Amino acid sequence: MRILVADDDATSRVLLKAMASKLGHDCLVASDGSSAWELMQSGGIDVLLTDWMMPGVDGTELCRRVRHELRDGYTYIVIVTGLTDPEQILEGMNSGADDYIIKPVNPLEVQTCLVAAERVTMLHRQLNQVRAQLEEANLELLGRSLTDSLTNLGNRRRMEEDLLKVHALALRSQNSYCVTMFDIDYFKFYNDHYGHPTGDEALRQVSKCLNRVVRSGDAVYRYGGEEFLLVMPNCDVDAAVAAAERVLHTVNLMAIPHQARPTSPPAITLSAGVACHTPDSDLTIHDLIEHADQALYAAKLSGRNRVRSDVLAFPSVDAEPQVQH
Ligand code: GH3
Ligand code: MG
Ligand code: MG
Repeated sequence: MRILVADDDATSRVLLKAMASKLGHDCLVASDGSSAWELMQSGGIDVLLTDWMMPGVDGTELCRRVRHELRDGYTYIVIVTGLTDPEQILEGMNSGADDYIIKPVNPLEVQTCLVAAERVTMLHRQLNQVRAQLEEANLELLGRSLTDSLTNLGNRRRMEEDLLKVHALALRSQNSYCVTMFDIDYFKFYNDHYGHPTGDEALRQVSKCLNRVVRSGDAVYRYGGEEFLLVMPNCDVDAAVAAAERVLHTVNLMAIPHQARPTSPPAITLSAGVACHTPDSDLTIHDLIEHADQALYAAKLSGRNRVRSDVLAFPSVDAEPQVQH
C-alpha cells in the first residue's frame, strides 16, 4: 500500500516510516498538515497515518478534508496521537478517521492496524471496479436502447429525443431546420422476390449509404420498417432537397438489383419527402413529420425514385413532380 505519514515530530515520522517500510509498504512523509493535504490531493494514497496536533491544518481537519473533498478512491485514516481521553478519540473518529493509535507507537499495534487498512482498501478497490463496470454496462444498455439492432442507426426513441433538442434550439436561435422521410420503393415486392434475409441486407446497405452521405451535424434514424428520417439542423428547404437528391443519386449508383420492381430501373430506389420548420412557423415536431410524410406520399404517387418538398406548396399530388431524377 501507499502510506502517508503526517507528523510535525521528526522522531515519530522516522519511526512510523521505518515500521511501514519494513512491512513492505511504500511510505511518504509530511511534516505538517498543509503539505500532507497537498500530497493527499495528488492522489494514490491508500493509508494516512496522521498526528492530531500539527501547526496549520491539524489531524481532524485533515480527516474532514479527505472525507469531504476527495472523491477518487478511499483512504484509510489512522490518527496517531498522544491524546488518550476517550471523548477526544471519539471526536477524531467522528472527523473521519477509521482507527487510532496511542503514542508511543508499538510496532505490533501499527502492523495490526495496517492489516485492517489493507482489507478495507482492497474492499473499496473491488467496489470501485464493480461500480465502474456497472456504469459501463449502463452506458452500453442506454446506447442499445436507442439503437436499431438491424441497421445500427438511431431508433425512433433516439429520434424523438434528438428532435426535441433540435426543435428547441431552432426556436431559440430563430433558425430553420428540416426533416426528410425516405422510404424504399416497392420493398414488399423485393422481400417477396428475394426473401426476408436479403431484404434485411438491403436495409443495411441503404442505411450505410444514408449514414455516409449525410453531412456531419445531420442525423439519420430508422423511423420504422423501410422508412428513414433524416434530421438537418440549421438547414433551409433548398439545402434539404439537395441533400435528399444526393442520397437518392447515391442509392441509384449502388444499383442493388430489384428484378421484381414493376417499373424501371430494376434496382432499389428511394422516394423522399422534405419538410422545413422556419422561424415564423408554429408547426410542432409531429406536424413537421406529418408534412414530410405527405411529401413522401406525393413523391410515391408521382412516380417514386424522387424527392418532393413541402406538400402544402403542391396541393395536387398528381401534378408533375418539381424535383425529379
Ligand atoms: P412503396 O413503394 O409504396 O413504399 O411500396 P412498399 O412495398 O415498399 O411498401 P409497403 O409498405 O407495402 O411494404 C413495406 C415492406 O417493407 C413490407 C415489409 O415486409 C418490409 N419490411 C419492413 N420492415 C422490414 C425489415 O425489418 N426487414 C425486411 N426484410 N423487410 C421489412
Ligand atoms: Mg416502401
Ligand atoms: Mg413504408
